[in-house]
Amino acid sequence: MSATAAESTEPEVPLIASPYDLRVSLGEKVGESGIRAALESGECGFVHSFTTGSAVDGPGMRVVAWLTGCQFRCVYCHNPDTWKMSNGMPVTVERAVEQLQKYRHGLQTMKGGLTISGGEPLMQHRFVLNVFAAAKKMGIHTALDSNGYLGDRLTEADFSSIDLVLLDLKAMTSELHRQLTGVDNKPVHEFARRLAAAHKPIWVRFVLVPGWTDDMAEVERIAAFAASLGNVERVDVLPFHQLGRFKWEKLGVDYQLRDIQPPPRETVNQAIDRFRAAGLKAV
Ligand code: SF4
Repeated sequence: MSATAAESTEPEVPLIASPYDLRVSLGEKVGESGIRAALESGECGFVHSFTTGSAVDGPGMRVVAWLTGCQFRCVYCHNPDTWKMSNGMPVTVERAVEQLQKYRHGLQTMKGGLTISGGEPLMQHRFVLNVFAAAKKMGIHTALDSNGYLGDRLTEADFSSIDLVLLDLKAMTSELHRQLTGVDNKPVHEFARRLAAAHKPIWVRFVLVPGWTDDMAEVERIAAFAASLGNVERVDVLPFHQLGRFKWEKLGVDYQLRDIQPPPRETVNQAIDRFRAAGLKAV
């Protein structure tokens, strides 16, 4: 998409919003061909929301851009409104960088940076790389929060604009991964190994869901894989929660986890212990 097309279709919606807000159809006026053009040029991206002050999406205080578009269909997704790219607001690289510029000094003082999350940000890899390149020029730390499936869209040269990858490891057993996400996990592992070979730091994110991912033998398999990489700096065990349930209901999508409760603290601690036993820093 050209900048002109993006400007003419950008709705008057504030960029700052919570990822827990339901946002739909913000970019639908752009149309399929406009979305394709935006993906090819990387001049414009589709953004669900933009938050500031996050202390959990990378080191220090972070600005987080939540992009739309995801090819996974995780049974526990808390942002199913990010699946469809046209639910996001079209934002030019220029506007995204302008926003970032406002926080530059604060981020540097608080040893934070920019995290691009989603949805799956690599659905819009050119836009992500453009924004990261601009962030690096401003001296801002960059983190990519990804499910890793589209890692082959990035070359080793592209890695230079990414300081850290927050990588979701959802399951090691291929069948379980398919049940959880709808797709195979081999591309995720290949991306993790490429990052390891390039000595690019990874923070693993693992979502603990009662009845789905709380089998400790499976947690041990994830821990063994993560430890084998040699570049995993930390593991975040994220307890499943129900903050996104209303989105599934509003979107009319069948939600298999409707009645699942968050895991008890003991189970979270057991999972953390498995990662620690593999020699990893886990929280
Ligand atoms: S990868 Fe993330 S955004 Fe995509 S479906 Fe899974 S949890 Fe949702």
